[in-house]
Amino acid sequence: ITRIRYKTNIVVIGAGQAGLSAAYHLKKNGLETGKDFIILDEAPRPGGAWQYRWPSLTLSTVNRIHDLPGMTFNDTLATTDTAVRASVAVPHYYDLYEKKMGIRVYRPLKVEKVYFHDERFYIDSPTALFSSLGIINATGTWENPYIPEYPGARLFEGVQLHTKDFKTADVFKGKHVVVVGAGISAIQLLDQISKVATTTWVTRRPPEFREGPFDDVAGHRAVAQVEARVRKGLAPLSVVSVTGLPLSPEVMDMKKRGVLNPRPMFSEITRDGVKWADGSEEKADVILWNTGFKSALDHLKPVLPREEGGGILMAGRLATMVAKEPRIHLAGYGPSASTIGANRAGAAAARELIHTLGIK
Ligand code: FAD
Repeated sequence: ITRIRYKTNIVVIGAGQAGLSAAYHLKKNGLETGKDFIILDEAPRPGGAWQYRWPSLTLSTVNRIHDLPGMTFNDTLATTDTAVRASVAVPHYYDLYEKKMGIRVYRPLKVEKVYFHDERFYIDSPTALFSSLGIINATGTWENPYIPEYPGARLFEGVQLHTKDFKTADVFKGKHVVVVGAGISAIQLLDQISKVATTTWVTRRPPEFREGPFDDVAGHRAVAQVEARVRKGLAPLSVVSVTGLPLSPEVMDMKKRGVLNPRPMFSEITRDGVKWADGSEEKADVILWNTGFKSALDHLKPVLPREEGGGILMAGRLATMVAKEPRIHLAGYGPSASTIGANRAGAAAARELIHTLGIK
């Protein structure tokens, strides 16, 4: 089979919030979609990772979806009902956005490997081979769930799941579920599961609840912390992990129901449950790991310079530029891993990459 070959200036990998923002700004800077730059995505439909979010994640339970540049999210909603699923509303928005902005996304195309040869990047997917002078990588984190290693994990005869696998709490009816993690997803899933099953909540660090709404000041502080890390070449923490947990009415209710009593992390997994360092044990049918995601960057391995500790040294106005390979930008990585951060990162990456490559 001969694969289709495309030659272009810039390839944007991923068409979530970060990739679409980058595409918008490449166009705005005079580059033609499908010719001067190409945007591709492995998912079958528009929506980035939002198309995979669990059904009970609604517009009332998401943090906030920021508008992409040039089109308002709220204007695309068919209803003012906040019970609408994020997995429906956001993909619908991105779909309309692609059409309105005239951004042609090549999909489904999974980039398996990127390599460099003769001053060009080769972006390799099973059905097409692209070559370009620069890359904006916007592949998010959804494809790379993280589960820490604990002794005995392979012995466990129950089911181990990650946040990514969650669809509905109903499947846990009558079971005992150990919910791991202190992030927003852990709390939201614990809330739902504890209404139909018995639960034990375990966290590595004591969860931090914050009073009042999450304001811009706290947001900037959280982003600045993550940005400082990547500018030193350290692995990023998730933005969400440094923002603290909102004391929502659901959380207050969970406190009342007695399900918010965190236990420290267990030290091993047994055949039928988990065991702590003090010797205490608990039986479990399910261990649900809400232990986050890491950036999906495996395909860039041959071209992405890493620091000794494994991190990537980032530079540029919003730390989207790979310092040791400025022809690669990572949008939606580290400090820009939120819808607002991804928006800004897309703009910065587009402008800086055009400048680096000297194209217009
Ligand atoms: P994604 O939306 O993940 O898009 C990446 C795209 O890249 C996908 O379409 C994927 O198919 C594609 N891709 C990946 N690998 C490849 C490959 N090898 N080849 C080709 N294509 C590839 N942020 C907020 O601001 N507000 C919220 O309320 C919020 N809620 C969240 C809830 C959950 C459960 C999670 C996990 C995250 C949440 N976030 C939220 C963070 C959110 O992920 C980001 O805000 C943002 O949507 C990510 O955009 P992105 O474009 O970087 O990534």
